[in-house]
Amino acid sequence: MGVTSIGYGAFSACSGLTNVTIPDSVTSIGEGAFYECSNLTVVNIPLGVTSIGEWTFSGCTSLTSITIPEGVTSIGNFTFSGCTNLTSIHIPGSVTSISDSAFSANIRLIADSCADYSFSWASSHGVSCDVLHHDWQDAVYTWTDNNMKVEARCVCANYAAHTVTETVDTVLTLQAPDDETPGSATYTAEFTEDAFSAQTKTVTIPALGELRVLRLPANLQEIDEEAFAGLNVQAVIIPDGCDTVGDRAFADCPHLLYIRIPAGVTSIAADAFEGSGQAVIDRAQ
Ligand SMILES: [Zn+2]
Repeated sequence: MGVTSIGYGAFSACSGLTNVTIPDSVTSIGEGAFYECSNLTVVNIPLGVTSIGEWTFSGCTSLTSITIPEGVTSIGNFTFSGCTNLTSIHIPGSVTSISDSAFSANIRLIADSCADYSFSWASSHGVSCDVLHHDWQDAVYTWTDNNMKVEARCVCANYAAHTVTETVDTVLTLQAPDDETPGSATYTAEFTEDAFSAQTKTVTIPALGELRVLRLPANLQEIDEEAFAGLNVQAVIIPDGCDTVGDRAFADCPHLLYIRIPAGVTSIAADAFEGSGQAVIDRAQ
């Protein structure tokens, strides 16, 4: 059987010590074991160590990062105090007690999960803490702007303040309807965040012969502000010669399903279809 503990002050003030790999057989690192080892830069603590004493790494000014193994349950008084360059310390979920004096001021913790004690401790002590894992709930997808945009949102089950959101433009694949044949519009949204998956939505457009269709006259050049707002129509066909669709021109037309806009229209007000959210906008490019 190998060494099972490193005793009280074992390597205290050993300035020659730069790199330590603690043997796998060790389960306990005693009080002040590496106290003021000022050139110690790397310490590997094996899985199996469950106890790290007070003052153990205090004053190890060359230490920049360290990983505490899963199994350690507490970080006691002054364990990492005066480690002025220690900015990253990975604390496992098994740690359920951290002393107020455990670290020097500029510490940055890494917690496995935002449900861990170390995360709560960091929050209540004004200490920075990165989190490796959140407990993301199912993503919620909100379609807006006549299905032209999708906002995705995920909230962490542990803390509602942890959210991921991403809003993307959809890609429309359109099969235009004609008088006898129905059409369809398929909107596809792709996201870059891992928390989200691609979404698609298909809307069927009835054949124009079955709809109340507003066919605007061929010589119309401009559609004025609020021209058709609130109108009870289901489809609108804008003629080729038209170039402008004014503010709220087709706003609040709740029955509007389909609107065909020719390539000649170069100006469409941002709120032209506000409140007409289910309309498929077939805009020639
Ligand atoms: Zn979280």
